[in-house]
Amino acid sequence: MNMCNINENESSSHAASQRASRDTEEKAALRENMARIAHKIIVMSGKGGVGKSTVAVNLAVSLASKGLKTGLLDIDIHGPSVPKLLGLDTGQAIGTRDGKMTPVEYGEHLKVISIGFMLQDRDDAVIWRGPLKYTVIKEFLTEVDWGDLDYLVIDSPPGTGDEPLSICQLIENADGAVVVTTPQDVALIDVRKSVSFCKQLNMQIVGVIENMSGFTCPHCGKETDIFKSGGGKKMAEEMGVPYLGNIPIDRRIVAGGDSGTPFHADRNGGAIPAHETFSSIVETIIKGAAK
Ligand code: ADP
Repeated sequence: MNMCNINENESSSHAASQRASRDTEEKAALRENMARIAHKIIVMSGKGGVGKSTVAVNLAVSLASKGLKTGLLDIDIHGPSVPKLLGLDTGQAIGTRDGKMTPVEYGEHLKVISIGFMLQDRDDAVIWRGPLKYTVIKEFLTEVDWGDLDYLVIDSPPGTGDEPLSICQLIENADGAVVVTTPQDVALIDVRKSVSFCKQLNMQIVGVIENMSGFTCPHCGKETDIFKSGGGKKMAEEMGVPYLGNIPIDRRIVAGGDSGTPFHADRNGGAIPAHETFSSIVETIIKGAAK
């Protein structure tokens, strides 16, 4: 072996040991930041458009309204809806303090982070491959000054791709996943995959929510199951996972989303049936977390 080879071997083993010690430091920093958060809940769905972000936002707002210190992390990198749903899409930006990112505050008890706060223009598209998404999600968990929280609610994009995989791998002690579906077969086929994904990754299922379940006509009061109903509950039973409840279709939920007023926080128009069902879902989640 000549001297050149010896030097090359030495420098590559030095680089490997530097990488290993950086990895160890990063893991320790992630653990330290996450150890300050009592409960972590990942909101998932099989398909887009089933109301996953609506559930994540309203869950976070509802927990915060009870005085629980709450964080909401939007890792839907290609379609971040959280800023819009909270009315925070008007130029709010993530700050920095002592070398850490500071979340955008929503009311007294809720801290929010979304890739949406980092885009120059809301029409900008994020075009990233898996490893970059993993790195950004890791930074959101490690380098955000979440402080001490009771709950961190994570809004994950639909499906079983890079983002849900990253979050499940990065968070060691999550309470589990809340899985949102609508009742029709087309949605249920995909959400079963989300449940299997969690099982394969040993991620607990906090429970399934059937959204857009039934519609009561505001004019004649007649009930119509636009997307059918009961499919989410049946799927949960078949797959042996808890069922949390259903949320009916209500045009006030759409209006609340578009105006940045989460339906569960806004009672100006009087209570709507979805308030009651959602309250009981949140209570079940809190009770489950306390066990
Ligand atoms: P996802 O995160 O699954 O893509 P969103 O939460 O962004 O879905 O919701 C998609 C649209 O459906 C939004 O306009 C939202 O306001 C609306 N929506 C969600 N849940 C309901 C519901 N129960 N009734 C009526 N509209 C709803």
